[in-house]
Amino acid sequence: MKIINPATEEIIEDITEDTLETVKAKYAAAKKAQSAWAAVTVEERIACIARFYDLLDGEKEVLASALTSEMGKPLQQSYNELNGARSRIRFFIDQSAHYLKEEWTVLEGATREKIVYEPLGVIANISAWNYPYLVGVNVFIPALIGGNAVLYKPSEFATLTGRHIQRLLHKAGVPADVFQLIVGKGAAGEWLLELPLDGYFFTGSYKTGRSIAEKAASKLVPVQLELGGKDPLYVMDDVADIEKVAAAALEGVVYNNGQSCCAVERIYVQEGVYDRFVAAYEKQARALVVGDPTEARTEIGPLSRPAQLDFLLEQVSDAVAKGAELLYGGKKLQRKGYYIEPAVLTNVNHSMRLMREESFGPVVGIQRVKNDEEAIALMADTEYGLTAAVYSDNYDRAEKVMRQLNTGTVYWNCCDRVSATLPWSGRKHSGLGITLSYQGIRAFVQPKAYHIRG
Ligand code: NAD
Repeated sequence: MKIINPATEEIIEDITEDTLETVKAKYAAAKKAQSAWAAVTVEERIACIARFYDLLDGEKEVLASALTSEMGKPLQQSYNELNGARSRIRFFIDQSAHYLKEEWTVLEGATREKIVYEPLGVIANISAWNYPYLVGVNVFIPALIGGNAVLYKPSEFATLTGRHIQRLLHKAGVPADVFQLIVGKGAAGEWLLELPLDGYFFTGSYKTGRSIAEKAASKLVPVQLELGGKDPLYVMDDVADIEKVAAAALEGVVYNNGQSCCAVERIYVQEGVYDRFVAAYEKQARALVVGDPTEARTEIGPLSRPAQLDFLLEQVSDAVAKGAELLYGGKKLQRKGYYIEPAVLTNVNHSMRLMREESFGPVVGIQRVKNDEEAIALMADTEYGLTAAVYSDNYDRAEKVMRQLNTGTVYWNCCDRVSATLPWSGRKHSGLGITLSYQGIRAFVQPKAYHIRG
């Protein structure tokens, strides 16, 4: 499998993929090793993860540059991702023992009762490439702390970072067979589904997630899916500082080259502030520096995959053909690498693919709305349900809107953010199950009910 640098189109490395036979052997080894890992105290498992937390910091230059080289993220954002991953790991280090310890529910009387949290067993973590450190740690850290063995299949576009993760976890003391990398493309993920694993934890597209859920259904084991989104942002007309809101919206659209599950993908602006918002947004979008992701001044690097470039160009041309106005960008850059100018479109509507399909790139449509009712109807007009943002100077007014949205996360005056203390979950086509928060610790264990008489 060739690892290509999306900024230069050069081959970084040619890596040997797993085969069905090696995947089977890794599973057998994980199965054998898991019970000994589960028998280790939770404090000892947490101590391994704490060493991993330190190692990530010690090697941050190597880790950040590997990430930028294989998926094109601007280097500073690769450092940010590592910091973000470490703060999530910190949360699990600090909170897990509390949420995994046995709980007495009845202490007196003829029958005492308690809950004991046991690991699931050997789980698969099939992951995406856009934030490989961040979305990986949502799963494999609480899974390992919970006493599970993990077969970690990074995306084929994030294999180098996956290899570093494996190396550092082993260095931190996680036994080699307890955390193993599965190298390959979609087929390697499918082989994991042929094996009798005890849980499937997936981050990626709706299409793949759905096929995993269907294949795993008959196994009757936990299946969690963190999928895509078409996340809306609504600007109300009571906002005083339009420049600031436009800057926040733009960052929500283009951060990570627009390749975030919770990126802002649609913007609705109330008519009283619409013209000023569009002008401020366009001006700031024009000022963005698109270029080599290893340079400090770069704000937008290349897209990670060549097919994604054509996909975005098609979304833009479909919108323009249906009457949208392309205010800026939306063109391929004439240089090596999978670069696209950030695109700003107005006069858009929901007949356009741009407003309905996940874009996963630095392009956005801005639509004028009359009032909150119209905004709510448009925000809800999607198959997805990951996040939604409302910008207003009045919390009560914003909350009335947020309560009516069927999404796992809502934001007031912020967007495109994830917190370790809050449950991360998608509704509808955006996912199934929860990572992060105390619920994301408990997602990797199963409760056993003890009835103790005498
Ligand atoms: P993808 O579905 O193409 O691939 C995800 C993983 O699944 C990869 O490791 C891939 O090799 C594997 N895979 C592909 N086909 C498979 C199959 N048939 N069986 C088993 N495994 C298979 O997704 P992607 O392009 O890597 O990621 C982008 C998507 O991920 C976007 O939709 C994005 O919104 C979503 N995402 C969601 C979150 C979240 O937290 N909700 C986070 C990051 C990314």
